[in-house]
Formats: sequence, C-alpha cells, structure tokens
Amino acid sequence: MKFCPNCAAILTIKIPADDSRERHVCEACGSIHYQNPRNVVGSIPVYGDQVLLCRRAIEPRHGYWTLPAGFMELGESTSHGAARETLEEAGAVVRVGPLYSLLNVPHAEQVHMFYLATMAYPEFSAGEESLEVALFHEHEIPWGELAFPTVKQTLEWFFADRAAGVLSGEFHVRSRDVLPSERI
Ligand SMILES: [Zn+2]
Repeated sequence: MKFCPNCAAILTIKIPADDSRERHVCEACGSIHYQNPRNVVGSIPVYGDQVLLCRRAIEPRHGYWTLPAGFMELGESTSHGAARETLEEAGAVVRVGPLYSLLNVPHAEQVHMFYLATMAYPEFSAGEESLEVALFHEHEIPWGELAFPTVKQTLEWFFADRAAGVLSGEFHVRSRDVLPSERI
C-alpha cells in the first residue's frame, strides 16, 4: 500500500501511538490503514468415493491441481464462500458440510479453510480459472502435481480420516501452521 485510500496522500510506515507494530499511516488525514491476513475458503467436493479437483488456469501454480478455493468476499460466510468458489471454479453445485481443515500460512498472510462437501450428481465444468476439472479416486490423485501445501495436507488428512471411519462421526477440525520452507 503506497497511497492513502481516503485522501490519496503518500503513506508513511511507522508505529502509531498505543500500538506495537508498524502500520501504514497517513500524515495528511490521520488515518491508519491496518492490514490483516486474508481468508481463503474452499471445499473438498465428494461424489461417491471420488474427490473433485481443478487444474489451475491462473498463476500462481498454473497447470497444477487444486481443491476449488479462493479469497472470501465481503458480506459472505466462509461456508458460502466455499460453495461459491466450488461453483465458479469447478461448475459444481455442492452441499457444504462441516469445516474440515484450517491451515495458517503466515508467510503468505493467509488462512486457508476447507469444508467437506457432497455432490448429488457428477456434474461439473471448468470455470474461467480452471483448465480442466475431474473426479479422482484416491489412487488417482496427482500428488506430485498439486498446487499448494494446504491442498496436499488437506487431502492427506481427508483420505486417512476417511479410511479410519472418522468422517462419518464427530471429528475435530484438522489444523496446523504451514512453514515457508514447505514445498510440494
Ligand atoms: Zn489520508
């Protein structure tokens, strides 16, 4: 952030009084512009024993596979955002179930959340941000071509929990922090 969204003056970075962190401060109008992590919301769309993945048509990670997910919009809930992203990127209508995983990605200034979701019909199509969309059995998952560590981790947890029968009962949300050094 370089210019004040309020008055277009050039912002300075300093620690405001009564604060402990550097902020973007406008000396002209006195406003302080806080920056906070962004929420990425997505789903694990399940049809039978298959999971729906999208191959990304955009950077970063163009050409790699991901669960449908994207930035949460103002005015929507996390679960509505997950359903919206699934429809936009994968052309799939899902019934969103419980929150399944929450991953902190501090170095990317993001929090990723994935909801369990079910598809009533195997109907899907590639949205503008997807090259292709497909259903995968567990043994077909392109583990070496996944787009992000949060997607890989969520799928690993999902298949392990499904095999253990955890998902049909009550379960705790899976969560951990992703390190900058983590690579797919
Ligand atoms: Zn200003």
